[in-house]
Amino acid sequence: MGHTVYISFKFEDQSYKDQVQSWDHLDYVDRSLNEKINSENADYIMQKIRSDYLRGSTVTIFLIGDNSAEIFGWDEQQYIKRELQGSLYNGAGNTRNGILGVVLPSMMDSVYGGKYACSTCQGSHNLVRMNDSTVIKEFGHNYYIPHDRCAWTENERYCVLVGWEDFRSDPNSWIDKAFDKRDEPIAQKVTVYP
Ligand SMILES: [Zn+2]
Repeated sequence: MGHTVYISFKFEDQSYKDQVQSWDHLDYVDRSLNEKINSENADYIMQKIRSDYLRGSTVTIFLIGDNSAEIFGWDEQQYIKRELQGSLYNGAGNTRNGILGVVLPSMMDSVYGGKYACSTCQGSHNLVRMNDSTVIKEFGHNYYIPHDRCAWTENERYCVLVGWEDFRSDPNSWIDKAFDKRDEPIAQKVTVYP
């Protein structure tokens, strides 16, 4: 069963967005937030984004490329930040989306750092750099949902993350994983405005 998908991306990554949309058996909402919403009312802004842009979608795919990081600032990132906030927002009559982050090829080495030895538990963890230098906070914070231990299990994350090649070889199962998060206990710990 396919889900309706919204794609949040930077202009520079348009070719990847086009590729994803060329694949069969997925439904897309083909809109991008590209104009300012003139309001100071956060709930109004979120409802407007949900009704005018995200409408009908249940999963948001966030393409993580060279220009997706928090450090580039609000002016540069306001649209993707609003798109993710609107996706995470759980309002009356419009429930939050699952979020699937897709690491594009040029970002693989910046994000995936291999295994490292943990000085806290003496075990070994996979180094996955989700921080202000790689992604906007809306994604990073809901990937590493704060807690007081040294590592995260899959159940302790709301955002789902996958590399481009793995996504391309089996898009539907990754989209399903993100969709299923909406009803898992971790959904209670989502932060819309980190
Ligand atoms: Zn550890």
